[in-house]
Amino acid sequence: MQEHGNWRTHNRNHKGPWGPVNGVMIHHTVTKGTSDTVAIVRDGYSALPGPLCHGMIAKDGVVHLVGYGRANHAGLGDPDVLSAVIAERRPPTDNEATVDGNRHFYGFECENLGDGKDPWPEAQIEAIVRVAAAICRKHGWGARSALRHLDWQPGKVDPRGPGMDWDAVVSAVAKRLGSKPPTTPPPTPAKPKLDLSQLIAAAKSNPKASGQPVTYTGVKMVEAALVDEGLLSKTYSDGHYGTTTIAAYAAWQRKCGYTGKDADGIPGSSSLERLGKRHGFSVVA
Ligand SMILES: [Zn+2]
Repeated sequence: MQEHGNWRTHNRNHKGPWGPVNGVMIHHTVTKGTSDTVAIVRDGYSALPGPLCHGMIAKDGVVHLVGYGRANHAGLGDPDVLSAVIAERRPPTDNEATVDGNRHFYGFECENLGDGKDPWPEAQIEAIVRVAAAICRKHGWGARSALRHLDWQPGKVDPRGPGMDWDAVVSAVAKRLGSKPPTTPPPTPAKPKLDLSQLIAAAKSNPKASGQPVTYTGVKMVEAALVDEGLLSKTYSDGHYGTTTIAAYAAWQRKCGYTGKDADGIPGSSSLERLGKRHGFSVVA
């Protein structure tokens, strides 16, 4: 590691907010030569003043610290990606550029031509892993708090090139943090849908039918909710919308504030939606 000048106070905090910090972003510089690259990321250029990152990771694996605080590296990015980083999930495809990344991320520029051909030496990859792991450990983050510029800002391609295997980097960071390689959790299952008209049909036909038929499987979901509400005995949770279920649903309607004909035990959309909200189903008409 090499410290450069007043890196601890070299920043753009006078131009905008710094923090809360949520992750570590990795870039490639599109430059050649370590000392030139350090000078560029430290000082920037007329269109983009420095620092352009917090540290520059050279091809030999040496980390050059050039700034601390707000730095010009991330630009505007996708709020859904920020949410994923905070939740330690694999980021979704970036398709928005509305959030100021310079306040939310540490940035490390890595010496590479960025042409997709310039190889990433092992020492440099190892340094990226160590830097990301050190920052994540300091903040109590997991490995999914490391991300690439290309994950954040639509149109960006960095970092890329032979030897840059991002999944391997994230797994190595996780290993250093003493946790299992992160996986993408399965998406939360969609709420089951209840068809209101089929339910009404069952509520109207079932009580007079013989042999307790089940005419709509969704009835079971309503009965389970009524059992949870303490309005129906579990014995009657059988998928058959009989007189007991009618009475139980009427009790739910009264609980919702309905009276008279509005509490006749035949589901209406607003009472059913309220029940669904409490018991995890949605209603389609
Ligand atoms: Zn970048």
